[in-house]
Amino acid sequence: MLRRVAANVAVNSWKGNIFELDHKLIMARQLHARRIEGIDKNIWVDFTQLAADYKVVNLGQGFPDFSPPSYIQEALCKAVNGGCSMHQYTHAFGHPPLVSILAKFFGRVVGHEIDAFEDILVTVGAYQALFCTFQALVDEEDEVIIIEPFFDCYQPMVKMAGGKGVYVPLRPRVEGGKALTSADWVLSSEELASKFNPRTKAIVINTPNNPLGKVYKREELQVIADLCIKHDVVCISDEVYEWLTYDGAKHVKIASLPGMWERTVTIGSGGKSFSATGWKVGWAIGAGPIVKHLKTVHQNSVYHCATAAQEAVAQGFQREYELFGTPESYFLQLPEMLNQKRKKLATCLESVGLQPILPEGGYFMISDISSLKVDLNDPSTQDEPHDYRFVKWLIKEKGLATIPVSAFYSPEHRKDFQNYIRFCFVKEDSTLNAAEDILRKWSDLK
Ligand code: PMP
Ligand code: GLN
Repeated sequence: MLRRVAANVAVNSWKGNIFELDHKLIMARQLHARRIEGIDKNIWVDFTQLAADYKVVNLGQGFPDFSPPSYIQEALCKAVNGGCSMHQYTHAFGHPPLVSILAKFFGRVVGHEIDAFEDILVTVGAYQALFCTFQALVDEEDEVIIIEPFFDCYQPMVKMAGGKGVYVPLRPRVEGGKALTSADWVLSSEELASKFNPRTKAIVINTPNNPLGKVYKREELQVIADLCIKHDVVCISDEVYEWLTYDGAKHVKIASLPGMWERTVTIGSGGKSFSATGWKVGWAIGAGPIVKHLKTVHQNSVYHCATAAQEAVAQGFQREYELFGTPESYFLQLPEMLNQKRKKLATCLESVGLQPILPEGGYFMISDISSLKVDLNDPSTQDEPHDYRFVKWLIKEKGLATIPVSAFYSPEHRKDFQNYIRFCFVKEDSTLNAAEDILRKWSDLK
């Protein structure tokens, strides 16, 4: 077939018909690789665009609409003005000052010595750390267990690596009434255990969870850890919101449980840690024999990350290392500030009948929309899940952007979870007030 097209090229170009010919060449072969089939839709691309088109109050995409702390901005300015080396390539697997302080900092948190140059890979945000991990560890036909709801990119990343996602939902425990907090959403140990088999290569967990805000308790992590050890499975633990916990919830690193350091890749994000999501500095931390495979992917794709941003994040962690546990620490100040916003948003949602599930961590809150009677009569959205239709209606008709929660589910479970929407509360009080005005006006009209 291709040869025939090539022959046409020669003949047609003699006729001076080159444009028509290019078109034929494109039509004659499938351009895309099979590994990207079915993953072209992306919730952030679609809903971020919609929010921009309608100039809404934006509680959708998860980013702070306030500045990072001044000391970290100053650290970036200093780095940029710091001479030639700050503008050139640094070490491929992480700028030495950054990997050194990450090793020192997380070594203390995880209770295990971390080798700065063997056990850490610095990446373009947590996204690239996840990508390197899946590409490096997941083979054709391997199964990867993913707990739902999950940060949406896990599914396409597993697919691109050739693996198969196997999904286990957290379910709201409704004995004696409605689930009121993210702690009421639990895993069935039996259901989880039934998903492990000889093809299982890895399990992905996310604590604090996006979008639910669940912070896994030590006992819950122990169940997962026992299964990983029993079945010789790697745990990929996405902990980008690790500093953000509320009402006494404690973030526990699964890598700190006995027998787990050797089989866990922990993913972190400088963007989330310092409210600077645009910097895109992330990392994967784990035992050297695992991390060396992530480095193979990294050295053959990205090679290394922006030097000045890494230098600034290093300065940020140096400061946090010295202030750890004191009131000056940003890792204490940020959750304290967000807790006020979380309470404010929860009170508002409750008062307008949008029953929130109070998150124990992170900066998102999901809300039950099942009791709302809204006429979603837009024919252009009629084949979409209920929450997608509702969110589009809320954007277009009320000027408020949120995110549909079924986007955080696998196709097989999506239909069971289309009655929730996600609000982001890492926003200025003025933004939250504007959202509250919209919701109150709407509820007064109902
Ligand atoms: N994991 C989770 C759970 C997230 O919410 C995000 C969103 N930022 C990421 C990973 C990616 O983080 P980064 O911006 O550092 O790439
Ligand atoms: N993690 C952020 C969220 O969940 C942003 C994701 C993105 O922009 N791709 O909203």
